[in-house]
Amino acid sequence: MLWLLFTTGACNLKCSYCGGSFEPRVVPWRVTYNADKLKRLIEGDADATVIFYGGEPLLNPRFIMWVMDNIRARRFGIQTNGTLVNLLPRDYWKRMDVVLLSIDGRESVTDANRGVGVYRAVVNAFNYLRSIGVRRIIARMTVTELTDIYDDVTHLLNLGFDYVHWQLNVIWTSKWDVRAWADSNYLPGIKRLVNLFLRNAEEGRVLGIVPILGVLNAYLFKPYEGPPCGAGYRAVAVSTDGRILACPIAVREDWSVLGHVDTGFKLMNIQLPEMCMKCEYRPYCGGRCLYAMMEGEKYWGKDGVLAVDYVTRGTIKTILSIAPRIKELINNGVIKTEDITYDPILDSTEVIP
Ligand code: SF4
Ligand code: SF4
Repeated sequence: MLWLLFTTGACNLKCSYCGGSFEPRVVPWRVTYNADKLKRLIEGDADATVIFYGGEPLLNPRFIMWVMDNIRARRFGIQTNGTLVNLLPRDYWKRMDVVLLSIDGRESVTDANRGVGVYRAVVNAFNYLRSIGVRRIIARMTVTELTDIYDDVTHLLNLGFDYVHWQLNVIWTSKWDVRAWADSNYLPGIKRLVNLFLRNAEEGRVLGIVPILGVLNAYLFKPYEGPPCGAGYRAVAVSTDGRILACPIAVREDWSVLGHVDTGFKLMNIQLPEMCMKCEYRPYCGGRCLYAMMEGEKYWGKDGVLAVDYVTRGTIKTILSIAPRIKELINNGVIKTEDITYDPILDSTEVIP
């Protein structure tokens, strides 16, 4: 199971789509529960992947070190904005199985969203982590109207990131015309990325483009039972106040609370809405996002939710167009199964943007 551990509700940046720190009364800026109880819970899971999360998790390096020194887990990782890597000693970085660095693509796009100088800081962090031997580094993009998905994803792959994943800046932001943007820019860019992925696959190379890998894995191996992020059924988030949540974004919503570190918790039975139950893409999409399912209409209205769904369907359809050929390439031995196998729970990626 995936355990997203909030180390703090504070963040040192104020990105345009997020606004920075949580209010301390919602997500305290330090851990206020008994961490020995957390140890008992996590060690009861033989397959635990622990990912440090925030806020900016590196604002509380002592908690990260305590967990890595005291809790047995199969895998450790972190989702960080990449500007404070010097706060965690090198030995702990070397023990990270996966590091996700937030970067939105080219310098102009990243700095417009995240602040001047952030791109440089993240690239320096990437180079440092690589130099000390961190093997699996994922670029985690937030995609906005400024993004050119083809140019920005290929830029990050060319920098040397092992994987690139992205999330659309929709639902929890002010409403914008995502449909028009998708038609004119995003979906044609997805088509180009999918073609690039196929051209490489024909030569035996598997590009680390997470949404493509995630959808292909559902086609080739195992469909998703619910949102691929695992929210509530394969993944939980532990807030700094000890609440165990289905989704790390849903820090204020009662439906998200599955229990508490002190008292234990119960996973959810994911009930997909009727729209998803009838949808041909459900095996590859799993309903996309539990938070959007529960709260989407409240923020963006029905038409807004349908606009996002239009983008989701268009993306999945384009990826599935190459799936039979990818299967042939595996059967013919051009691509190795282990190169294309991808489980989003191990990396804390959501697969469907
Ligand atoms: S594509 Fe849309 S309707 Fe279909 S499963 Fe995904 S979220 Fe549900
Ligand atoms: S994809 Fe949705 S449900 Fe999953 S973690 Fe992100 S916001 Fe939560």
